[in-house]
Amino acid sequence: MTAQDIARTYLETGKLDALPDGHFIGGRTTPASNRKMESFDPGRSEAFAEFSLADDSDMDRAISEAEKAAKSWRQVAPSERCRILNNAARVLRDNADRLSVIEVVDSGKTLAEAAGDVQSSARLFEYYAGAADKLDGRSVNLGPGYTAFTVREPVGVTGHIIPWNYPTSTFARGVAPALAAGCSVVAKPAETTPFTALVMAELLVEAGVPEGLVNVVTGLGAEVGAKMAHDPRIKQLTFTGSVTTGVSVAQMAAPNVTRLTLELGGKSPLIAFEDADPEKVADGAYWAIFSNSGQICSAGSRLILHKAIRDDVLAILKERASAIRTAHGLTAPDMGAVNSELHLSRIKAHVDAAKARGANLLTGGDVTHDVETGKGWFFEPTILADLAPNDPAVQDEIFGPVLSVQNFETEEEAIALANGTEFGLIASVYTNDIGRSMRVAAAMDCGQVSVNDYWAGGLELPFGGNKKSGYGREKGWEGLDAYTKVKSITISNAS
Ligand code: NAD
Repeated sequence: MTAQDIARTYLETGKLDALPDGHFIGGRTTPASNRKMESFDPGRSEAFAEFSLADDSDMDRAISEAEKAAKSWRQVAPSERCRILNNAARVLRDNADRLSVIEVVDSGKTLAEAAGDVQSSARLFEYYAGAADKLDGRSVNLGPGYTAFTVREPVGVTGHIIPWNYPTSTFARGVAPALAAGCSVVAKPAETTPFTALVMAELLVEAGVPEGLVNVVTGLGAEVGAKMAHDPRIKQLTFTGSVTTGVSVAQMAAPNVTRLTLELGGKSPLIAFEDADPEKVADGAYWAIFSNSGQICSAGSRLILHKAIRDDVLAILKERASAIRTAHGLTAPDMGAVNSELHLSRIKAHVDAAKARGANLLTGGDVTHDVETGKGWFFEPTILADLAPNDPAVQDEIFGPVLSVQNFETEEEAIALANGTEFGLIASVYTNDIGRSMRVAAAMDCGQVSVNDYWAGGLELPFGGNKKSGYGREKGWEGLDAYTKVKSITISNAS
């Protein structure tokens, strides 16, 4: 069945066929306990299924299975790991239609966005398949008395706490390098998006990933997420989510000295100088903030405009933002729903507070609905202009379709504004002056910078933050570092 067929059936019946029922532990879907929670379709604000809430014993079993599987997987020839991961990419692509529709219904995003996420997930498996047989060490010259070299060893069982904004691709960006490096996996998807990780784990086994190597446990973060973070058998914890939860996960992991990768979001700037083309800037800013309804850690949520082009850019942006059609993700809208009612209320609270402070609201500013059905959790594409550097709408991660605009006159001022939050994930600079673009790129306190295109880059490049955006890098070759330990071996050549 194509995505359109599955979508049509869902829109008629409100049900999705063959959703996993239980956790995925030891290579199979395990019977679910009686503790269940409803999963909501944000595009309709209606429950469409239930999923299991794990208890400590489910997480315990998952970690035990992963521990057993890690012992044999590290002995598997790298060329064989490479073959299996390539197969995983193929199986994910074969099931892309089903996975994409489940992702839309679970998360609220559009089908085009979900389909893109599934393709990136398959690409991540392909990319790290290519790395599995290239994890070589170095030969180190200590002089004639010794032979010395390094080896990269798998860290063992890895834990992955997944957020709700990119459930498939965040799963893949942790699981694929972990498997390539010879590690096993226990993953916990977010409460509001439990299903695609379960389906992907099933598909990985179909692709030849040994049973027990990838386990998925669904449940509450404060219960099973915390259990995972406390468990000394987890040797690397990869967390993506809010700063508050990331800090408490780090505290839970600290007594065991568990390795951590933290990806905690941002308030990323798009800086546009006076020589930039206003059309191009407006187009970059539009996609930077309204993709995925603004629920992206690296969203371009701050537009920092030179005063000379401010009016031109904002006129174009305002017109485009006001024309956005919000509707259920399966009906080809311009923008989908936000992930939950709770999250919608958080976005609204941020914008209400900005309005109460007298912010210059250019467009949007309120909750809305699917334009066809009147249902769902949607927020209007919103632009708040001319904000002061210390305004909460500039400082706080709103994580919705809300753009905060600041103005500047000099390069120094632009750099200070761009670096002036506690986050440091990504930054973008629009200018035709190559020297200036390089000066600004060097001055940005963040993990990645793009010039003249907000979303430039790809999964081949390392991705991660500075400051409160977190630490560690995912994607790219550097994405393997979290899952390997380097050991130095030295042999004395003395006779
Ligand atoms: P969160 O950080 O609470 O949740 C992220 C993940 O952590 C989920 O899987 C959740 O179950 C788990 N979790 C929650 N409490 C836990 C605990 N005590 N121990 C272990 N795991 C736990 O995020 P949220 O409340 O769903 O969203 C709040 C804010 O987080 C958003 O408004 C946004 O600013 C930010 N966020 C950022 C990202 C990102 O990509 N960096 C993703 C999602 C949310």
